[in-house]
Amino acid sequence: MSGSPSLLINEIFFSIQGESTLVGTPTVFVRTTGCNIRCTYCDTKYSYYEGTRLTFEKILEKIKSYDCKTICVTGGEPMAQPSVIEFTKLLCDTGYVVSVETNGHFDTEKLDSRVLRIIDVKTPGSGEEKSFNKENLKSIRATDQFKFVICNSDDYDWSSQFVKHHQLSKKCTVLFSPSFNDITPQWLSERILSDRLDVRLQLQIHKYIWNPDTRGV
Ligand code: SF4
Repeated sequence: MSGSPSLLINEIFFSIQGESTLVGTPTVFVRTTGCNIRCTYCDTKYSYYEGTRLTFEKILEKIKSYDCKTICVTGGEPMAQPSVIEFTKLLCDTGYVVSVETNGHFDTEKLDSRVLRIIDVKTPGSGEEKSFNKENLKSIRATDQFKFVICNSDDYDWSSQFVKHHQLSKKCTVLFSPSFNDITPQWLSERILSDRLDVRLQLQIHKYIWNPDTRGV
């Protein structure tokens, strides 16, 4: 590898984007290896350790083979590897539509302004409430998407308060997603409607299209 820029990659695959404002879009997913936190509901535990170090060149080669213009860099936690910043800029320069899904622990300010940042705010139900980096609230872009995975009623109240306190809905997109095994989309929808909450319901549609335990979709 001798100095070529690289990333530790868990998997690269082609599927339908199940989340964010890009939901439904055919997308190449680049999943990085490793995560610095441990959410109670994590569905990608296999990404914690499994992976291969690949040069940017090799990753790009694989991406190009799918003939798809939309790329999602996810994890694990992509921002745990600083070279993700350079890599995603390269993808933007190459003409791809690029999103980065991050757990909210790392400051995302250095990501290229063309990158769609999907930033989790970990709720108490995740067990990682303290992991959020408030620096991410300082330079919010209109294209940013703050995502709350809601596990229970307390999580819903906590998240609603957070959104209101930081006036997030006025600044960017706010996504409320039901934790798949904990609450139903109907329950969350009814709470959002009843409170006239200015957020967007998000379902992980890949879990409805395919078996929820299927990997690489
Ligand atoms: S941030 Fe994502 S990859 Fe990391 S533990 Fe939480 S759900 Fe799993």
